[in-house]
Amino acid sequence: MMKKPDVSKEPCSECGGHLKKKYISQAFERGGVTVKLSGIAALVCSKCGEIYFQPGGSEKVVEAANSLFKLATIERQFKRPLTGEICKA
Ligand SMILES: [Zn+2]
Repeated sequence: MMKKPDVSKEPCSECGGHLKKKYISQAFERGGVTVKLSGIAALVCSKCGEIYFQPGGSEKVVEAANSLFKLATIERQFKRPLTGEICKA
């Protein structure tokens, strides 16, 4: 689902649909542990639902997910959902 970053005015490269700025949630599963990031600003195609992150954004999302996985391992929160949320300053 993750694609290369795109400019906000450009149409979806998959279907040509209109991209809308949205705050999305993404869940990641690894070795039975699930972490969730929510409130990530991204551009989402209104037609096919393709997700486009800001330039460099997808790498940062993966980094954040990796950090949550490490935290989950340290705290042994295997049985509990761990959520990272981006809030306004
Ligand atoms: Zn599309």
